Amino acid sequence: MVLFRKMPVYLPGMKAKHVVLISIDGLNAKDLYLMKELSYFSEMIRRGSVAREMVGVYPSLTYPSHVSIITGVYPNKHGITDNKPFAATCQETPWFFYAKDIAVPALYDVAIKKGLSTGSFFWPVTAGANIHYNCPPIWPTSQGESQIALSLRNGSPGFLLELERRFNWLRHGRQYPQLDNFTAVSAAYLLKKYQPNLLLVAFSELDHERHEYGRNSKQAEYSLVRTNERVGLIIEAAKDAEIYNDTAFVIVGDHGFLDYNKCTALNRIFLDNGYLTADDQGEVLDYLAFAQAAGGSAQIYLQNKTDQKIFHDISLLLKSLKDSGESGIAEIYTAQQTMSKGLSGDFSFVVEAEQGYCFTSSINSPPVTAVQRGSKAATHGYDPEKSDYQSLAIFSGSGIKMGAELPSINCVDIAPTLSQLLDLNLQNCDGKILTQMLTGN
Ligand SMILES: [Zn+2]
Repeated sequence: MVLFRKMPVYLPGMKAKHVVLISIDGLNAKDLYLMKELSYFSEMIRRGSVAREMVGVYPSLTYPSHVSIITGVYPNKHGITDNKPFAATCQETPWFFYAKDIAVPALYDVAIKKGLSTGSFFWPVTAGANIHYNCPPIWPTSQGESQIALSLRNGSPGFLLELERRFNWLRHGRQYPQLDNFTAVSAAYLLKKYQPNLLLVAFSELDHERHEYGRNSKQAEYSLVRTNERVGLIIEAAKDAEIYNDTAFVIVGDHGFLDYNKCTALNRIFLDNGYLTADDQGEVLDYLAFAQAAGGSAQIYLQNKTDQKIFHDISLLLKSLKDSGESGIAEIYTAQQTMSKGLSGDFSFVVEAEQGYCFTSSINSPPVTAVQRGSKAATHGYDPEKSDYQSLAIFSGSGIKMGAELPSINCVDIAPTLSQLLDLNLQNCDGKILTQMLTGN
């Protein structure tokens, strides 16, 4: 375990002595209009530079996206190709919680190696990471596991107990809006007291509200208003600690969102066609093909990847579904074809949903269902190149130019750019340093 109460280190060559990277899960490019009206976001925009669109990764899910943002490479290199490792089941299974599953160094690894201090709140796939002040997202997925024991084992126990004593009253398990309030207050506390060189903060209420109520819902707007206040707490903490002028603040989203009104159950179609068997509860007994749904796309795994006959049969079945025009399949990719989209894995196919559709792994529902009003309304996981589906990024503060505006960047550009700000040496990135946003260029 790394030393507790690690203090910041200042090295010559740093364009920013502190970098605060804040992700707002599910932030869309069009949110910029509202953000310009909100106090702290507009302060950042006024003092800094904006990438009006940020293109994410495939699948555009929270975990692969956050890992690409912090490593600078696509999922085919970092290995987090979904929120969860593959499991042919409809039950809740563990997500990619653990940093050890990331195949390349993350920005915090490089920072720690150079002696810098690091902190993180709920940044995906950081359980067990060497981060000095680490509050990782991890939760029980089987009976008998304790939330407290999991968090302490995989985060920074001394620091977590300190937070627990001070701010536990703000939390209500994993419920919103309390969780993001706890995150904001805790991150502000850390920044003021220990001033880490690199601080990662992930807010996720907006994503939750968009899933529940729709992309352009009032609830999503209210959440963005609350998130402005939360970011404000962190900015004010930097001012209180007198490090505001030495700090670069970066706000990023991770993926866009699209509303849908139909849901396709590919595993139900596999069941009806004899490629899968299930028990009365809809739990998989055996399968030749299984679709792990990722909202706007799905990865299809074969029991035996080398079985050419099944590959051919499933290929024909998918094509006939697509041609029927009723299944919501917009595109079918083989594993080889997804490589050019930065995605690889043990799956044999990836299917992309048409706009208005999403995929579910469920076996119990009919092949295609119309979504009832009052149930879930919007999702992500689609091809990040889909129209009106990008996120955005705002840079401001130390080392950042004022007034630069880029029409479009890639989420893998964030890590190499932050590496440059902290004078680190994050190598072999797929993304590039956004020199247009940095001073001295
Ligand atoms: Zn997300």
